Amino acid sequence: MSETSPKLRAELDGIPTYKPGKPAAAGGPVAYKLSSNENPYPPLPGVLESVMAAAGSFNRYPDMMCTALMNELADRFGVPVSHLSTGTGSVGVAQQLLQATSGPGDEVIYAWRSFEAYPIITQVSGATSVQVPLTPGEVHDLDAMADAITDRTRLIFVCNPNNPTGTVVRRAELERFLDRVPGDVLVVLDEAYREFIRDTSVPDGVELYRERPNVCVLRTFSKAYGLAGLRVGFAIAHEPVAAALRKTAVPFGVSQLAQEAAITSLRAEDELLGRVGALVCERTRVAEGLRSQGWTVPETQANFVWLRLGDRTVEFATACEQAGAVVRPFSGEGVRVTIGEPEANDIFLKAADSFRKDR
Ligand SMILES: *Cc1c(COP(=O)(O)O)cnc(C)c1O
Repeated sequence: MSETSPKLRAELDGIPTYKPGKPAAAGGPVAYKLSSNENPYPPLPGVLESVMAAAGSFNRYPDMMCTALMNELADRFGVPVSHLSTGTGSVGVAQQLLQATSGPGDEVIYAWRSFEAYPIITQVSGATSVQVPLTPGEVHDLDAMADAITDRTRLIFVCNPNNPTGTVVRRAELERFLDRVPGDVLVVLDEAYREFIRDTSVPDGVELYRERPNVCVLRTFSKAYGLAGLRVGFAIAHEPVAAALRKTAVPFGVSQLAQEAAITSLRAEDELLGRVGALVCERTRVAEGLRSQGWTVPETQANFVWLRLGDRTVEFATACEQAGAVVRPFSGEGVRVTIGEPEANDIFLKAADSFRKDR
C-alpha cells in the first residue's frame, strides 16, 4: 500500500463541521428536541399522502427541472419561472451561489454570529469569510457590513431574521444598505424564517428583488412548511443569477417526494400558516415568560429565542436537557431554543426559571 494519500484542496483544512441540533434522547425520559428550529407539527395528512403516492415510483429519477413545483412557485410569488431555482434545501442553493460567484481571493461578507453554514460553504468555495460582528443589540450592523465591501467582495449574506438571534433588519436600513452595495456584488437575503415575521416594517425580500438585479432571495420548505427531512428550498433571482444556479445544480438533487410535498404544501398554505400563527403565539408566551423571569431576550421574529449566556452556555444547555428539553448551545456565546409544542415550551420555561433561581 502506498504511503501517500490523495491530494485534497488546502481550503478544506480547518473547516468547522456543521453541528446538527442534538436529537432528543431515545428511550430515556421524555425529551423534546428544541435544537434545530424544526416545525413540531407532524406532516399534514394530504402532504403525507402525496409523498406516499410518489414513493411508488422512486425507482425513477425525479423531474430534473422540478417543472410543476417551479410553475406553482412562479404563480405564488408572481415571478417568471426563469427567475427561480430549486435545490436540496436552501443551504444547497446557498452553496451553489458561492460556487457561482466566489473562489480563492474573493471575499464573502456576513454578520457574525449568524447561520453556521455560511463559514463552512464559504471556506469550501475557497473564498475568504469577512465576518462583521452583530451590534450589542444582536442585530446585523449593516453600516459596518457596507464599510467592509472591497473590490474583492463577491457575495453578502443578510440573514433576516438572523439565526440564531431571531433579530431583524427593517425596510429603511436594508434599502439604505442595498443602495450602498455595488451592482456587481450579489446580496443574498436568506429568509428561511420569513413566514414567522409579524413586524410589518420588515420588508419582503421578494419585493426588494424586483427592482434590484443584484439581490437574490432564499426561501425554504424546511421551517414553516415542515418539510425539513425532505430537503427542498429555492432561490428567486434575476436571470443571470438564476441561470447560474441551474448550471451549478446537482442533477436530480430534489427528489420527487420533496417536489410533491412542496406542491401540496403550497396548496395547503392556509392550514400550514395557521400552524405558524400558533407557533408565533407560543413565541410570544416563551419570550415574555423568560423576560418575566428576569432574562434579557432579544426581540425575535423567528421560531426560536436567543439567550446570551456566555460562559454559562453549556451548563444551561445541560440543565435544560436534564429537564427534558434539548436546546442548541453555541459554546461560550449563548443558547438558541426553538419554539416547540406548548408542553415542550413549558418544560423549557421551567428549566430556565430554576437555572436562574439556583444561581
Ligand atoms: C434552517 C435555515 C436554512 C434552511 O435550511 P434548508 O437547507 O432549507 O433546510 C437556511 N438559512 C437559515 C438561516 C436557516 O436557519
